[in-house]
Amino acid sequence: MFEKTLKRVFGYDSFRPGQREVIDAVAEGQDVLAIMPTGAGKSLTFQLPSYIKNDGLTIIVSPLLSLIEDQMLHIRERGERGVARLTSMETLEEKQEILNHLKRYRFLYLSPEQLAVPHVTRALARTKIQMLVVDEAHCISQWGHEFRPEYARLGELRKQLGSPQCMAVTATAPETVKRDIVEKLALFSPAQFVHSANRPEIRLIVERLGSEDKMRRLSELVHDVPKPAVIYTATRREAEALALHLDDALFYHGGMSTEDRRLVQSQFLRDEVAIMVCTSAFGMGVNKDNVRSVIHYQIPATLEAYMQEIGRAGRDGEPAFAVLLYAEGDERIQQFLIDQQYPKDKDIRLAYFERDNGTSLAQLPRLLRLNEEDPVWGLLNQMLAERTLAEAVDWVKDRKRARYRQLGQMMDYALI
Ligand code: ADP
Ligand code: MG
Repeated sequence: MFEKTLKRVFGYDSFRPGQREVIDAVAEGQDVLAIMPTGAGKSLTFQLPSYIKNDGLTIIVSPLLSLIEDQMLHIRERGERGVARLTSMETLEEKQEILNHLKRYRFLYLSPEQLAVPHVTRALARTKIQMLVVDEAHCISQWGHEFRPEYARLGELRKQLGSPQCMAVTATAPETVKRDIVEKLALFSPAQFVHSANRPEIRLIVERLGSEDKMRRLSELVHDVPKPAVIYTATRREAEALALHLDDALFYHGGMSTEDRRLVQSQFLRDEVAIMVCTSAFGMGVNKDNVRSVIHYQIPATLEAYMQEIGRAGRDGEPAFAVLLYAEGDERIQQFLIDQQYPKDKDIRLAYFERDNGTSLAQLPRLLRLNEEDPVWGLLNQMLAERTLAEAVDWVKDRKRARYRQLGQMMDYALI
């Protein structure tokens, strides 16, 4: 019967691993703590029960505007109109309008700050609530990597809402964080689910070492691990440097010509070379099922990227290795790469200032020392057209924060 709803509402044929058990517990009315990897499909586990029970509003607390936007978009794409949000992007009137007509909605997304606004809490307390969902629940714990003080009040707010059924979901929760979540949300003997993303045939290894030891260790590893092997680096330059340093290795990255890439790729596919050193540009659509090892010389930007990249090992079902080499401070490379993808605060301000004072758009890139082909200019140009200065500044801040927090999840994995 849940399968029917899955098909009818979400258009999917089957549940992903772990989803069904979580939904069962929710449908039974239990409090739930679900720890599932990024991309596992946690949203569905708190959305689908709403269609089964049809018993009031599902309130979802989420830490970031960009996450809320993303989820609302998905829900609306399904044709669901009964979804609203209370964030800094709505005017007071819009918010009041939503609060006055809560019965119209199935899902309400908001930040913990918004939930704590007294007249919001009061309005919600007067309506029938099916469930309170705390997404990214690790934010509640001081032991987590992205503690948010506003999350700390959620337990108290839940009480004010009449202690509705509560579900906490997150991708990362070590034991200490788990205990914090249960305690602070006052979850009542919650059903707990923990799912790891491990593919059993891939042996996962994390090695922490000093940055001065990395090259030496890589040479050893490359000698020891079964091949063919793929080595991922964060930058093109590093991919080239490592390939030169290692025997029987070629490099591959997005800065190469299409012909060169095709050539290198086919040599690797035909086992003419044992090692491919590459950036994340390599792998999409590459069908090579006998890759025995994937080594990460640097951490990728997200856990999702990591999972995808190591997932290229052992496609034939035979044992394979995934080794992550981590040296303290490695994350700075990814932070740098993230920062590079967005216009700097002072550049945004300068662009708006110049534009508002009559400077033509064509002159702006040069003023900002940006290449017209640079995606950063593309982004800035689009913001100038669509957003106010304040919105643009906020948007970039929020995007960067989202990217940093994804990097934080990756860091958690490297450090556990
Ligand atoms: P997360 O666990 O990281 O919060 P999401 O809930 O955002 O993951 O889901 C990740 C993606 O997986 C979404 O695009 C979602 O539509 C898709 N998805 C979720 N459940 C299923 C399913 N049973 N079948 C196919 N796709 C699914
Ligand atoms: Mg999610």
